[in-house]
Amino acid sequence: MIRVSDETTTGTKASPGGGEQRVVIVGAGMAGVQTAVALREQGWTGEIVLLGEETHQPYDRPPLSKAVLLGKADGSTLDVDFAGLGIGLRLGVRVTGLRADKRLVETGAGPVPYDILVIATGAEPIPLPGTEGVPGVHLLRTLDDAERLRPVLARQREIVVVGAGWIGAEFATAAREAGCVVTVVEAADRPLAGALPAEVAAPMTAWYEDCGARLVTGARVTSVDEDGLLLADGTRLRAGAVVVGIGARPATDWLAGSDVELAEDRSVAADDRLRTSVPDVYAVGDCASFPSARYGTRLLVHHWDNALQGPRTVAANVVGSRTAAHFPGSVYDPVPYFWSEQFGRFVQYAGHHSEADELVWRGDPAGAAWSVCWLREGALVALLAVGRPRDLAQGRKLIERGARLDRTRATDPSVPLKSAVR
Ligand SMILES: Cc1cc2nc3c(=O)[nH]c(=O)nc-3n(C[C@H](O)[C@H](O)[C@H](O)COP(=O)(O)OP(=O)(O)OC[C@H]3O[C@@H](n4cnc5c(N)ncnc54)[C@H](O)[C@@H]3O)c2cc1C
Repeated sequence: MIRVSDETTTGTKASPGGGEQRVVIVGAGMAGVQTAVALREQGWTGEIVLLGEETHQPYDRPPLSKAVLLGKADGSTLDVDFAGLGIGLRLGVRVTGLRADKRLVETGAGPVPYDILVIATGAEPIPLPGTEGVPGVHLLRTLDDAERLRPVLARQREIVVVGAGWIGAEFATAAREAGCVVTVVEAADRPLAGALPAEVAAPMTAWYEDCGARLVTGARVTSVDEDGLLLADGTRLRAGAVVVGIGARPATDWLAGSDVELAEDRSVAADDRLRTSVPDVYAVGDCASFPSARYGTRLLVHHWDNALQGPRTVAANVVGSRTAAHFPGSVYDPVPYFWSEQFGRFVQYAGHHSEADELVWRGDPAGAAWSVCWLREGALVALLAVGRPRDLAQGRKLIERGARLDRTRATDPSVPLKSAVR
C-alpha cells in the first residue's frame, strides 16, 4: 500500500499565486490532469497533489473504444511532464472520504490534507443488473477494460452488445472491423434514445445493418450467462462475450456523509463557477453538473471537451480566490461539444436541445453527410453534424453568439451555415 501522507494539519496562509497552499485533486483522468496543468499555466505556485485510483499513467479515454481496442495503438497516455510541472502525481490511491471540517480527504494510505480540493472522479459504467462477476461480461471504461476486450476482438468471438448508445455504437464498429459477428440489443425502440429525438436517430438504425451488425430494438435482457443472454420475449442469443454499454453515472459514492451536495443524478451539484456547497471545494468533469444560464437548466456533460474546458475555469477560480481581494469568479457556461466515430462516420454535436426546439434538416439523412439544427425562437441552440465538420465548426460559433438563422437558407446544405444567419 502506498503511504500518501501522515500530515493531518494544513497551512491556510494566502499568498499570491498559491504560495504555501496545497491544492489536492481527486481523480487523475482528463479533468483532474487538466486542472493540475491549468493551475500551473495560470500561475499557481503552491503545491499540487493529484490522486488517482488507477495505477496506469493518466490516459485519454476516447481512443479506448477506437484505436486501442483494435490494437492500432497500445495506449493513450497523456503527454504531461508531471515532475517538470511540480505536480505530485500519486497513482493507485483510492480516496474513500472527505472530512471538510478537517480539510482532508481519506485514503487507504492515510489522510491527505488540502487547502483547496478539486473533485474530478469522473464516472463509472452502469452494470447490467445480475451480470456482475458473470464470465465473459465486459464493461468499457478503463484501459484495463479495453485490454481485456482486445483479445476478444482478435479471436473474432460472437459478441452481443447491450445498449445502442455512443459507446455501444463505437464498440460495435470496432468489433465488426475486427471481423466479429455482432448483435446489438437495445431496450428502446431506436439507437441513442436518451440523446436524440426519434426522427434524428431513425437514419442511424440503418448504419448498424450497413456495417454488418444486427440491431435488435425493444429488447429487454432478462438474464445473462456464460453462453449468452435471454431476452424478455424468450429469444436466446448466443455470445462468446457480452459488452454492456448502458450508460455511466458520476463516481461520487466516496462523498457519502460529506457536506458536498449531490444532485438527483448523483453528480456533484456545482454552481456556475464550479464550486461545490463546501467552501474551497470545486468539482469538474464527468462527476459534476452545473447550472447553465445559456440553456436555462442544470447540465451533466459526460464528454471529453467538458473535461478539457471545465478545468480552466476551476483553475482561474482557484488562483483568483487566493490572489484577488474581491474575486467575482469566472463563470462556466460552455456550448457543450462532443464527437463520436461510428460505422465509418464522424458524428459531432454541439449545444444542448430540448424536445420543444424546432428541427431544421440540412441534407439527406439517407446520404453520407447531413446535419440537423435545433432552433429556439429562431436562434441556433444545438447542431448535429454527420460528416459535415464545417457545419459543426461554424454552428458552434453561431450557437455561442445566439445567432438567429434563416430557415430556408439553413435548410440548403450548399449554403454555408454562417451565411444562413438572419
Ligand atoms: C471508451 C470511451 C470512449 C469515449 N469516447 C469519447 C468520444 O469519442 N468523444 C467524447 O467527447 N467523449 C468520449 N468519451 C468521454 C470522455 O472520455 C469523458 O468525458 C472524460 O474521460 C471525462 O474525464 P473525467 O476526468 O471527468 O473522468 P474519468 O476519465 O472518468 O477520470 C476520473 C478518474 O478518477 C478516478 N477515480 C474515481 N474515483 C476515485 C477515487 N475515489 N479516488 C481516486 N481516484 C478516483 C478514476 O479511476 C478515473 O481515472 C469516452 C469515454 C469512454 C469511457
